[in-house]
Amino acid sequence: MGSASQATVDPQSVLAALRQVVGSGDGFIALHEPRFAGREWDYVKECLDTGWVSSVGKFVDLFEQRLAEACGTKHAVAVVNGTAALHVALLVGGVAPGDEVLVPDLTFVATANAVSHAGAVPHLVDSEEATLGLDPHKLADYLDGIAEHRQGRCFNRLTGRRIAAVVPMHVFGHPADMDPLMELAERWGLVVVEDAAEALGSFYKGKPAGSLGLVSALSFNGNKILTTGGGGAILTNDPELARRAKSLTTTAKKPHRWAFEHEDVAFNYRLPNINAALGCAQLEQLPDFLAAKRKLAEKYVEAFVGVKGLRVITEPSFARSNYWLNALLLDEGQAHLRDVLLELTNGNGVMTRPAWGLMHRQPMYAACPRMDMSVAESLERRLINIPSSVLLGEADVA
Ligand SMILES: *Cc1c(COP(=O)(O)O)cnc(C)c1O
Repeated sequence: MGSASQATVDPQSVLAALRQVVGSGDGFIALHEPRFAGREWDYVKECLDTGWVSSVGKFVDLFEQRLAEACGTKHAVAVVNGTAALHVALLVGGVAPGDEVLVPDLTFVATANAVSHAGAVPHLVDSEEATLGLDPHKLADYLDGIAEHRQGRCFNRLTGRRIAAVVPMHVFGHPADMDPLMELAERWGLVVVEDAAEALGSFYKGKPAGSLGLVSALSFNGNKILTTGGGGAILTNDPELARRAKSLTTTAKKPHRWAFEHEDVAFNYRLPNINAALGCAQLEQLPDFLAAKRKLAEKYVEAFVGVKGLRVITEPSFARSNYWLNALLLDEGQAHLRDVLLELTNGNGVMTRPAWGLMHRQPMYAACPRMDMSVAESLERRLINIPSSVLLGEADVA
């Protein structure tokens, strides 16, 4: 990258390239807006007309079936949000209070929060630039240094705690490098729980994101590739884990026509029927959304061809990404211009944002065990998210 890294970013040319893609209208261009172009009104109206708006109704079952089909898993359990999905995915994956769970330092806070909700401790892992996801090779070396096997389980020699699981997160929809991670997890007896919240519709070496771990979590928050207002889902191929997940998310009530008997201290995490109705309509449009997202990413790549000192993030060579959220990556040495660019673009009606603040800098996770974070720290200083609404990929804006 020798000569590229010498080049200086010209902020005005960045704004111009963004404007070339998002158009020159005077409305504020959001980072991500939902798109309701299908049968949303029909399905939601059906809920209102029949009165089935809440915890019972046909759309929940339908949504779960279609999600499982879309993600190539045997089971899907719909829940109230992605954080709840991750929480329960960790629980059914066998994470217990006092365990440690390996999570990327560069992630949305929900990944680490779900680990805490399960009573476990996030153990933070560095990223790799090729995927933005956790670095399985650096993790392998690190575990060789700090972990030991005890009866087929992995223990942190420094803290004495069991390391129960690893949670790869597919950053902005780009799949993490799963093969070496699965191999590592196998070697150390770690459960793999995928945080696929951002990656519905992405593929890793031909396999859908969300189908690679023992259990996975999706989110359907308003800013995700498809939305149910708020929502999430747990995915797995294991029928017993799916049964446990369903039970834990629905107060663990035993099926009976009238009796209230419960087999566990459980949660009320079930997705309401009215949200599932929205989800069914959105899922029907997923192929269109994916096509629009891909188109938009191509437009950005084209628009930024002549802009020096940065690149548009594109999918890793082994992946087909859903391009949920586009991003620019400033060259090393240009990081000082990140905030200048954020000021300029947001001040001119084009919403942009830095990556999430690293987990180890959040006060509640500052004391968590972690490795060297040089790559995550560098990425965090250099990433800028740019507008990624489906509509921008559909429209011929000028
Ligand atoms: C959105 C998101 C979540 C959580 O989803 P909610 O539905 O907002 O609870 C978890 N992890 C990642 C990486 C996310 O982007």
